[in-house]
Amino acid sequence: MTTLLKTADAPPRYIPNDPRPSLIGLTREALADALSRAGVPEKQRRMRAGQIWHWIYHRGVQSFGEMTNIAKDLRQRLEDAFVIGRPEIVTEQVSTDGTRKWLLRLSPDERGARHEVEMVYIPEEDRGTLCISSQVGCTLTCTFCHTGTQKLVRNLSSGEIVAQVMTARDRIRDWPADIEANPSPPLGGRYITNVVLMGMGEPLYNFDSVKDAMEIVSDGEGISLSKRRITLSTSGVVPEIPRAGEEIGTMLAISLHGTTDEIRDRLVPLNKKYPIKELLEACRNYPGLSNARRITFEYVMLKGVNDSAADAKRLVQLLKGIPAKVNLIPFNPWPGTQYECSDWDTIENFAEILNRAGYASPVRTPRGRDIMAACGQLKSESQKLRAKERLALEAGA
Ligand code: SAH
Ligand code: SF4
Repeated sequence: MTTLLKTADAPPRYIPNDPRPSLIGLTREALADALSRAGVPEKQRRMRAGQIWHWIYHRGVQSFGEMTNIAKDLRQRLEDAFVIGRPEIVTEQVSTDGTRKWLLRLSPDERGARHEVEMVYIPEEDRGTLCISSQVGCTLTCTFCHTGTQKLVRNLSSGEIVAQVMTARDRIRDWPADIEANPSPPLGGRYITNVVLMGMGEPLYNFDSVKDAMEIVSDGEGISLSKRRITLSTSGVVPEIPRAGEEIGTMLAISLHGTTDEIRDRLVPLNKKYPIKELLEACRNYPGLSNARRITFEYVMLKGVNDSAADAKRLVQLLKGIPAKVNLIPFNPWPGTQYECSDWDTIENFAEILNRAGYASPVRTPRGRDIMAACGQLKSESQKLRAKERLALEAGA
C-alpha cells in the first residue's frame, strides 16, 4: 500500500553537495549566532532570529522567500548562506487503520553517506501520536527488537530530530494556517498532539541532540508541544535518567519487559550493566513525579518468556511506590525472530492482575502492522524497498 508521492507534493529536491548548513535544530542563541554568516550585524541578530524562528517553527515555511517581513536583500543573503532543511521523503505509506509511515532520507553525513530513518503517525480518537527516531539503527541489541538487528548506527542531529516533526506537519497539514483553512479541523486544534521518542534508537545515547530538539519542539513560540505531551522511551540507561529529568524534562517511559534480572538480561542485554534494582531506583527519584505525572513502563508480551501470572505479580511488587502506568505491548513479529506474541487470554489475565493491584494497564493495540509500522518493526525500509519502486520514485511517478 505504498503511496508514492507526486513531485508537486514533495519537499524541495535535494541538491547534491549543497554546502549550506540548515537552520533547523539550532537553539535560539545558536540561531542568532549563525546569522553572522549572512552578514546580519550583531545588534540585530536577536531580533532577526526571533522573526526567522517564527517563520520556521510557527508558520512552517520551507523557503526564505516566504519571510515577507524581512527585507528582500537579507532574504537573498539568508538563501545564499542557509537552507531550511527537511529530509527527503522516500516513501509514505498509509495503513488500512489510518496509521502513516514515512521513510525519510537524511542529508549526507561527513562521509557522504545518506542514511534513512522511519517515522510513524498514529491517529486515535482523542489524540494523534507521532513516533520519531533519535538514531539511525541502535547500538543496543534487545533480542525482540528489529531495529536492534540493524548494524549501521549513527546519532541524528537535533535538526534531523526536529525536522521529522516538521515533515509530519507538512504532510498531515498540521501547521496553524492549514488548520485555520481546514473546514473540519481536528479536535483540540491539531493533528499531532503527542510525540513519542519510540522509533529507532536509544534517545539517552544521543542526549545533547535530543535535549536541544525537545527544547525546540516544545518552544511556545513555535511547534509548541508541551513537554507533558512528549515521552522519551529508554531501555534503561540509568546514569542518564536523572539528567534527563532535570535537563530534558519530558515524560519518561521505561522499556522494562522482564521482572527478574535473569529474564531481562536475555531480553534487554543492557540490564547486565544496569540491573532492575538500579533502574527502578532511578525511576523513583525521577523529578516531578506524581499521580498526575507517572512513568510509563512498557512491557512487551512474549509467549512463554515473560507473560505468566507470576511475572504479573512480580511486576506489581517491583512498581510499588512509583507513580506508574503499565503499557502492555503485544509483540510485533518480524522476519527471522525467535519470539511469538502471547495468546490474547494470557495478555488479558496479565492485565487483570495489574488492574486489580491498581495499575491502569491498557494493552497497546498494534497499529499499522500491515505496513510494518508497529513498535519494534522499524528498520530502514530501504533494505526491503524494491528496485522497481525506487526507479518509479526517481522518475517522479
Ligand atoms: N530504544 C528505546 C526507544 C525505542 S523502542 C527503548 O528501547 O525504549 C520503543 C518501544 O518498542 C520499546 O519499549 C521497545 O522495547 C518496544 N519494542 C521493540 N521491539 C518490539 C517488538 N518487536 N514488538 C513490540 N514492541 C517492541
Ligand atoms: Fe534499541 Fe530500543 Fe530496540 Fe532495544 S528496544 S534495540 S534499545 S531501539
